[in-house]
Amino acid sequence: MLALTLVLAALQQPAASPLPPQVGDTSPFRRLALPAPNEVREGSGRPGPRYWQQRADYTIRATLDTATHTIAGSETLRYVNNSPDTLRYLWLQLDQNIYKANSRGAALNPTDARFAGRGFEGGYTIDYVRAVRRVGQAAGRIPLATSGNGTMLRVDLDRPLAPGGRAELELAYRFEVPEHGSDRMGREQFAGGWLYEVAQWYPRVAVYDDVRGWNTEQYLGQGEFYLEYGDFDVSITVPRSFVVASTGTLTNAVEVLTVNQRARLARAARSDTTVAIIPKTEVGQPFSRPAGPRPTLTWHFTAKNVRDVAWAAAANFIWDASGYDGILIQSFYPPEANADWARSTEYARHSIKHYSEKWFRYPYPTAINVAGPVGGMEYPMIVFCGHRAGDRGLFGVTTHELGHEWFPMVVGSNERLYAWMDEGFNTFINIYSTLAFYSDTAPRDRGNAIQWARFAASGLDVPSMLPADRVPPPLLGQAEYNKPATGLYLLREHILADTARFDAAFREYIRRWAYKHPTPADFFRSMEDRLGEDLSWFWRGWFYRTDVVDLAVDSVRARTDSTGTSALVYLSSPGALPMPVDLRLTYANGATEDVRLPVEIWYLGNRYTYQRKVPTEVVKVEIDPKQNFPDVRRGNNTWQKSASP
Ligand SMILES: [Zn+2]
Repeated sequence: MLALTLVLAALQQPAASPLPPQVGDTSPFRRLALPAPNEVREGSGRPGPRYWQQRADYTIRATLDTATHTIAGSETLRYVNNSPDTLRYLWLQLDQNIYKANSRGAALNPTDARFAGRGFEGGYTIDYVRAVRRVGQAAGRIPLATSGNGTMLRVDLDRPLAPGGRAELELAYRFEVPEHGSDRMGREQFAGGWLYEVAQWYPRVAVYDDVRGWNTEQYLGQGEFYLEYGDFDVSITVPRSFVVASTGTLTNAVEVLTVNQRARLARAARSDTTVAIIPKTEVGQPFSRPAGPRPTLTWHFTAKNVRDVAWAAAANFIWDASGYDGILIQSFYPPEANADWARSTEYARHSIKHYSEKWFRYPYPTAINVAGPVGGMEYPMIVFCGHRAGDRGLFGVTTHELGHEWFPMVVGSNERLYAWMDEGFNTFINIYSTLAFYSDTAPRDRGNAIQWARFAASGLDVPSMLPADRVPPPLLGQAEYNKPATGLYLLREHILADTARFDAAFREYIRRWAYKHPTPADFFRSMEDRLGEDLSWFWRGWFYRTDVVDLAVDSVRARTDSTGTSALVYLSSPGALPMPVDLRLTYANGATEDVRLPVEIWYLGNRYTYQRKVPTEVVKVEIDPKQNFPDVRRGNNTWQKSASP
């Protein structure tokens, strides 16, 4: 609790103010203090003319040994230093090391925790790391010194990597696939054998950015990933009986699929409805795999401009697919999966189409949903959803995990530090994807102001701005998913109350930061720039702090003069987070009138007298009659004229 208190205190420090220091500006409307804009990140929220980002291209050859559940791989990493800095070493992420016996993650997570390894001991064995020299007298392979730090590995380059320079590294590695890989990857045994969901499966170079240099946060389980973009060339060798689903385009279908399967895939790609590639009746049948002398097959995939690659493999996949606008939508699930998985491809297609039409066109050639042990996890072009999920639960997890293709797969924010920028934004777009599929549902859990107010009133709320690993696990869903989603919903629907203006700004943010690394300041600035609105008060109160909304109508008086009768409505905002005020006035004749007062009524303090010419006596005034705002105390929202004595 101490650490958390300190964090809250730090976040609640008054921001730098344009006023002289002796005049403390404590108004909730003071400008939000953001890092000074520069040529890399503009004050407008756009990437600047000197924006740079590192590039990482990978070639990976890996073999899955299903007897030992081991993956052995060799990797070539081609790294381009686009930064203005000379690098003497690279930091790599060795996420599998969370499963080492004495890892920090193992110490932090109770054995049965969602993000734990459930007692599994494993981790990476790195056979070698060496530099590749292709030209000159020193052509060849040069062993490099490394130094491990938990889930991070520092690789010392044999010569400094100057700005604009390229480094090529080769490394070889092995690890045993855990059964429960922190609910992000793993394996499970079904009647037809083991099903593998493979992710965080190769040493990945950490992000080096202009904001903080190397991003070396440990992988502790709860916090996700922050990765560079690049192209991948991946070869995965599995037993011949296996089928592989992976990020990327399958380039050797002729070798790994039957003639029938290739014909069905071609048909599926042009079909709006789901086409079976391997129907249930063919699962595990010898004729469902191409014949050949070798016991293994190598599946080859390529992927462009992605931040990661993940894959799944099993001998018992049902496989179906459809197409949308040239995108192949696919599902892979074992026969034991919930029967509703037969609708997975329909759910996935709806999601990809909906997000593409509403926000930003899906840029990749395929989108895949795999059923297995992982409850819900996202990677570029491929997501893992729990095989027990069914009905609206399966729709919900599918549309959520696929929504991550936009945040953070296309808009590459730092998940480990700012989970709200992917989980929250994604949960927000899920509201509309769900509404579009089930037109009978209004936002229930997500975006629901009443539910949020109930939670906020509990006092358990923590700032969304906290890094994921510093949010108490039971509050992760509220802090990083629901709260930011509810906030954006509130902004779009009720604060701005202008959905077209919000949507244009949100799309602009996605366009500006697609395949880049935005920070919270870039998001806030970009939205304000496109909306034409200073929202410091909202960003601070909602994302940095745990301020609550509490709007009240204290009393109402009438005043009559030669010009007529006015009502004086005495309003107050005892909560720290101001909001616009929707008022409903009811007159003695029963007529009602709705009035919207802008948030600026609170500029001079948390009391405001609203004066309005009225045709007849006001008998009732109600704030937020539609309950659109997350008001933690509704008891003070209504004034009613007391009955005459
Ligand atoms: Zn998520």
